[in-house]
Amino acid sequence: MTYAIGLTGGIGSGKTTVANLFAAHGIAIIDTDAIAHGITAPGGAAMPAIRRTFGDAFVAPDGSLDRARMRELVFADNDAKARLEAITHPLIRTECERAAADASGPYLIFVVPLLVESGTWRERVQRILVVDCPEETQIARVMARNQFSREQVLAIMARQATRAQRLAVADDVVDNDTQHAALTSRVDHLHAHYLKLSENAGGQ
Ligand code: ATP
Repeated sequence: MTYAIGLTGGIGSGKTTVANLFAAHGIAIIDTDAIAHGITAPGGAAMPAIRRTFGDAFVAPDGSLDRARMRELVFADNDAKARLEAITHPLIRTECERAAADASGPYLIFVVPLLVESGTWRERVQRILVVDCPEETQIARVMARNQFSREQVLAIMARQATRAQRLAVADDVVDNDTQHAALTSRVDHLHAHYLKLSENAGGQ
C-alpha cells in the first residue's frame, strides 16, 4: 500500500493551499471534502439512503443534498448527525480507497479536516501533517472568504478539535501564518523528507 500522509488543520488554516503545493510536486491529493461533496451531488452514491432516511424535504430539486437544510438539522440534532455520518462516512472511505488504489507516485496525501477527531483515519495514515496558524488568523481568513460573522466562525471552530489537540498528534507541522514564499519552501522541504520516508518504507 502506498505510503500515506494525512493532512489536517482547522477551518481556514490553509489545508487546500498547502495541498496544492504538494500537488505541484506531482503528489496525488485525495480530498475527503471533495468526495463528500461528490456523493451528495445529483445522482451521488449517498443520495438514495439520504432520501430514505431523512425524506424528500432534504433533497433539492436537482437531486442533490439540500445542504443548508441538512446543516441546520445536524447542527441542532446530534442523533441526526450520527445518522447522516453512518450513511456518508463508509461511502467516503470507499471512494478514498478507490482513489488511493488508482494513485501513482511515491506517496499520497489524504486531506481530512476532522482527522484528529477520527480514530480510523489516524490508523490509516503513516504520518499526520498539521497545517497550523493562530486562531485569530483562521477567524480573519474565514470571515473574509465566506463573509461569515466572527460568531459563525467561532461556532464552527468550537465543534472541531482545538489547536493544541491537533498539534499534540502531529508528526509534522506547517506554520501557515506566513508569506507564500516561506510556505513553498517548507513544503519543498517536507516533500524531500516524505520521499525519503516512503522510500525507506518500501513504497512504490
Ligand atoms: P477549509 O477548512 O475552510 O476548507 P482550508 O484549511 O482548506 O479551509 P484554505 O482554503 O487553503 O484553507 O485557506 C483559507 C483562506 O485563507 C483562503 O482564502 C486562502 O486563500 C487564504 N490563505 C491560506 N493561506 C494563506 C497565507 N499563507 N497567506 C494569506 N492567505 C492565505
